[in-house]
Amino acid sequence: MNSGTNLDLHELGVAQLAAKLAAREVSSVEVTQHFLKRIAQHDRLGAFLAVDAEVSLAQARVADIRLAAGERSPLLGVPLAHKDVFVTRDFPTTAGSKMLENYRSPFDATVVSRLGVSAGGAGMVTLGKLNCDEFAMGSSNENSAYKPVLNPWDSSRVPGGSSGGSAAAVAARLLPAATGTDTGGSIRQPASFTGITGIKPTYGRCSRYGMVAFASSLDQAGPMARSALDCALLLSAMAGPDLDRDSTSLDLPATDYATYLIANSDRASSTTPLKDLRIGLPTQFFGAGCSPDVLAAVRGALAEFEKLGATLVDVDLPLTELSIPVYYVIAPAEASSNLSRFDGVRYGHRAAHYSDLTDMYKKSRSEGFGDEATRRIMIGTYVLSHGYYDAYYLKAQKIRRLIAQDFQKAFTQCDVIAGPVSPTVAWKIGEKSDDPVANYLADIYTLSSSLAGLPGMSVPAGFGAHGMPVGLQLIGNYFGEAQLLGAAHQFQLATDWHQKAPGTAA
Ligand code: GLN
Repeated sequence: MNSGTNLDLHELGVAQLAAKLAAREVSSVEVTQHFLKRIAQHDRLGAFLAVDAEVSLAQARVADIRLAAGERSPLLGVPLAHKDVFVTRDFPTTAGSKMLENYRSPFDATVVSRLGVSAGGAGMVTLGKLNCDEFAMGSSNENSAYKPVLNPWDSSRVPGGSSGGSAAAVAARLLPAATGTDTGGSIRQPASFTGITGIKPTYGRCSRYGMVAFASSLDQAGPMARSALDCALLLSAMAGPDLDRDSTSLDLPATDYATYLIANSDRASSTTPLKDLRIGLPTQFFGAGCSPDVLAAVRGALAEFEKLGATLVDVDLPLTELSIPVYYVIAPAEASSNLSRFDGVRYGHRAAHYSDLTDMYKKSRSEGFGDEATRRIMIGTYVLSHGYYDAYYLKAQKIRRLIAQDFQKAFTQCDVIAGPVSPTVAWKIGEKSDDPVANYLADIYTLSSSLAGLPGMSVPAGFGAHGMPVGLQLIGNYFGEAQLLGAAHQFQLATDWHQKAPGTAA
């Protein structure tokens, strides 16, 4: 192909790149080379923790062979990268922690193999591993043990977290799509902070096999890309049962979300394609706690949904505020248990000098874990300990159930719930880094749906203070991914917020 066309390959999304590859207008090797070059040029963003051109090009050659043989699967040859909590055989996996520095997994996570070029995979080429908060704990990516990630819209600001590398890389057009994980907002909040689209599916929709565990009853994988359609393409390949390896994965076949979206966009010829959609607005998501610039963008997006025919109804989620203490008891409790495997014996960091076994445990763990991981291990161990278990952990579990019930009540009045993703736009690097509670409070709008196990997404909805992107959150009922993606797709057919690129991408 002529090299002039190569210049703007990074402007293309997943579906457009796939179409070009299928038409053999460009090869996967050429696409891969183009993005590898861009990644190197934008190294300053800190989005990547591992890149290996040889590995990626070898994968691209496999994709090209499959394309040459006439295979036409919808992701074949398109590049992506994985958040560094998905274990990969071909790249190191650190989970953003010194504890796993140079760790290499002997196997691929299920999500990685389902998307990848090996037999049975969708044929996507892995460009590397993406920076994240240590063990996915954080909201700003400042908890990465390696380096912070800069927001491509304003490099003095955070990209959000914990999937901040994924979000920054997609926003800066270093790749068309990435994987992320969301335990309490880590796909939705960084998507919102960087102006991209991301979906956290229903708990159990994607296999957790090979995801470095943070809080197992909450962790969920999902795609991050520019549009709902591109997310749909990825999710169709990522989702589906994996019962032999993850007993909590849902025993439901993967849906072809992209086909669903395309089939339903015929309705776009109607001026009111969303006329049957009732959108619930929880009073608690629109109060004084949310900054006015964010609310203005969210309300603007909702007005667009109304134009498309949707009806807005008020709903009540009275326990929203309690989702913060409940999450910050349950997630650390599970984290303290999950992270106990890092003992310096089997894998991970081991202290160089120690006097006996106990000293080796202590030194290895103190050296390997950063401050936030240590804080969560301590909180988690405390709330699970004898005498406190009933007062904190059990109580939190009971309120968790009530939060889930409140959502079910709300869903008797509406089909999806909408609101902001985060109370503010992306904050300055360093602004909240000494104040863990300030970070926790900023999770107010994402935690309750995570605790309930519901699917949620962030859809670019305009800009707020300092010209920074604002995301609209859409929360669906269990298994409602197709409905969420469909509503977002109609919105994106009518608006162009999701197509805006950072003008000054570092
Ligand atoms: N910000 C939340 C936390 O720090 C959520 C993180 C996540 O979803 N992985 O725990």
